[in-house]
Amino acid sequence: NPTRCSVIIIGAGISGITAAKVLAENGVEDVVILEAADRIGGRIRKEEFGGVTVELGAGWIAGVGGQLSNPVWELARQSNLRTCLSDYSNARYNIYDQNSGKIFPSGVAAESYKKAVESAIQKLQNHDDSPLAETQSYLHLLINIHYILNYLFSSGPKTPIELAIDFILHDFEMAEVEPISTYVDFGEREYLVADERGYEYLVYKMGESFLFTSSESEEGKILDSRLKLNKVVRELQHSRNGVSVKTEDGCLYEANYVILSVSIGVLQSHLISFSPPLPVRLSLFFLSPKSKYKNKKLVVNVCLPSRWKTEAISNCDIMVYTKVFLKFPYKFWPCGPEKEFFIYAHQRRGYYTFWQHLENAYPGSNILVVTLTNGESKRIEAQSDEETMKEAMEVLRSMFGCHIPNAMDILVPRWWNNRFQRGSYSNYPICVNHQLIDDIKAPVGRVFFTGEHTSEKFNGYVHGGYLSGIDTSKALLEEIIKEKEWKSENQSFL
Ligand code: FAD
Repeated sequence: NPTRCSVIIIGAGISGITAAKVLAENGVEDVVILEAADRIGGRIRKEEFGGVTVELGAGWIAGVGGQLSNPVWELARQSNLRTCLSDYSNARYNIYDQNSGKIFPSGVAAESYKKAVESAIQKLQNHDDSPLAETQSYLHLLINIHYILNYLFSSGPKTPIELAIDFILHDFEMAEVEPISTYVDFGEREYLVADERGYEYLVYKMGESFLFTSSESEEGKILDSRLKLNKVVRELQHSRNGVSVKTEDGCLYEANYVILSVSIGVLQSHLISFSPPLPVRLSLFFLSPKSKYKNKKLVVNVCLPSRWKTEAISNCDIMVYTKVFLKFPYKFWPCGPEKEFFIYAHQRRGYYTFWQHLENAYPGSNILVVTLTNGESKRIEAQSDEETMKEAMEVLRSMFGCHIPNAMDILVPRWWNNRFQRGSYSNYPICVNHQLIDDIKAPVGRVFFTGEHTSEKFNGYVHGGYLSGIDTSKALLEEIIKEKEWKSENQSFL
């Protein structure tokens, strides 16, 4: 027999839990939350490693100290979450040369950096004059960060230091090139969460406020039967009358509405089948007849009514971002002010480029973290952890010499191969048109979409997930009220 409720929420990450909380606060308590994993939190996830708590997913509260207060920072303050200020800007003065193992002189590094940023800004300002801009907003989707950075160094970055700077700008610090709402609205500071309860404690705290927990409950011990863990949703049927959802273990749930909070990577992966399928949009390609841009490719969207969702989902990029943790018997890297982050300049872009020591967060932990992205993330996810440790050690020896000790332990998260994530976070093109995000977040009948990828201003961040959960549940509450009103007005016909 199917379980019946008013609203099914798929996914118990920050957006799903926030959405459920807002619904509960507004009188809609008859919900079921279906979570595929055996825990809540989604991409906010801690693990014990090397004697401390490390964050495999979100690690920073980004956007603090501005005029507006970041709501996640507020939640962290209410929970007394322990945090440490991070200053990435110093990383550019700690770039190690692959060949000599020495740090590039600060003048050389700073100058290359400045040029790269100026050049990227210039290209961004000029992009409106480019032939591509003529081709209407759809093609703006294609003008992404790669487009800008291809022009960064006249014929593309080539030397190890150029490649390292390209990597840092592209994969970490676009804020210096393009205003990013998180930093503009909430401030430029970033705080690393360094608390043994983990970043995920914020999600548990929120869950606790509307779900039952045992009286001597520790975090993670939510006992409410409305939260169902290990429930992998595989089928979603929707019609004018309601929705029904089937999980991998054969359970059936029916409701008036569903909120789907799975990541954009999961939506692209077809883990969940939709019946009827999500709408698609047709695109026609033809060559521009205009003389100035003759033979430039134009794209025209044929917006058939209700055929748009699938394309929007497939047009959103996914960033894979992997933090590899390495534990050592003692520290051999420089500590002290402005040394938290350092960069390795290698001839292969993104090859163990960005390093951080955890001494500020956890003094004496002797842990280094190296961040890899996209292709490099996928590559190391596919190999054994021993191979990754070997590669990382070679890189460290080229920076610090052969005498350094071997790592005692390694932790390699696999966000790309996790079928409940399929990537780390959404990565919209810089010059994205608003239609794309509108389409991604727009409901399809009774299916509502939420999650960081649906946040126009803050996608990719924890606060994006949090605020999207609020937005989506409010939109659903309005819909519920409208439906009630309509039903009472038309009762005699029903
Ligand atoms: P999720 O947390 O992904 O929640 C979706 C839930 O749906 C998951 O729990 C998943 O298990 C579940 N699910 C998936 N498929 C199914 C299914 N078929 N059936 C049932 N349930 C399903 N943000 C920051 O602000 N600062 C950072 O420093 C930062 N660093 C990051 C580093 C990494 C490595 C990663 C991965 C992310 C990082 N982020 C950071 C981004 C941040 O973690 C996310 O934006 C946010 O947590 C997303 O929340 P969400 O609710 O939208 O999605």
